Amino acid sequence: MNPLISIREATKRFPNGNDIIHALRDVNFDLSPGELVAVIGRSGSGKSTLLKVCAGIEKVERGTVEVAGVALEEASTQTLAEVRREHVGVVYQQLNLLPSLTAVENVALPLELGGMKVDAANAEALKALDSVGLSERVNLFPDQLSGGEQQRVAIARALVGTRRILLADEPTAALDERTGDQILSLLRQQADDGAAVMLVTHDRSLAGLADRVVELRDGAVHSVVVRPDVETELAELWR
Ligand code: ADP
Ligand code: MG
Repeated sequence: MNPLISIREATKRFPNGNDIIHALRDVNFDLSPGELVAVIGRSGSGKSTLLKVCAGIEKVERGTVEVAGVALEEASTQTLAEVRREHVGVVYQQLNLLPSLTAVENVALPLELGGMKVDAANAEALKALDSVGLSERVNLFPDQLSGGEQQRVAIARALVGTRRILLADEPTAALDERTGDQILSLLRQQADDGAAVMLVTHDRSLAGLADRVVELRDGAVHSVVVRPDVETELAELWR
């Protein structure tokens, strides 16, 4: 399957007083449909910068970034907004739903902002909420939902409509361990259902469900570990 995200030799620096910080150094990164890729590394290693580059929130200085077939490094602000609206959803550590909107309204919002009629947007939002196991709670407001439920709504909003790329930056950091584990299983399930999922975390123990684990150190890819695909190997043996 062709990658939905393909990054080559991406470099990004930030000024820091008289110094320069290398947030990304010649990073190569791919993310395909059906994959859950964990990006791990200490605080300051460049994880969030890589996620923002994938989301078209930050531009690279050097290198290429292709998302859903669009070259982001040379894209206009409008094209970047389109890519985010149609292809990429982001989930953050903070639970950042709009408090004055119900769950279904929160999820429908990106579609409505993209010009979809309210009824159609709501129908898509209900499908997305169903896929995260929240079909019974769609008319509740964020403060009537638990932290884990709010994060599920955020995941539904990230993947509503045509979007197939889910970028999650420390999505379990604000949750207790058990709720966090449920959110990780949900990310795994979304990948198994065909989404391309990037999980950013500083906690390497959370990377266990990933197909691939990319470790950043000082902005560079330090290691890539691929989980052996047991089923494929068995199928090869028995063919
Ligand atoms: P991580 O998510 O792994 O903690 P970040 O990608 O947020 O790391 O940051 C990588 C490095 O780049 C850090 O040293 C950070 O301070 C710096 N950095 C990130 N964003 C900015 C910015 N907008 N301005 C200046 N420095 C930044
Ligand atoms: Mg970060």
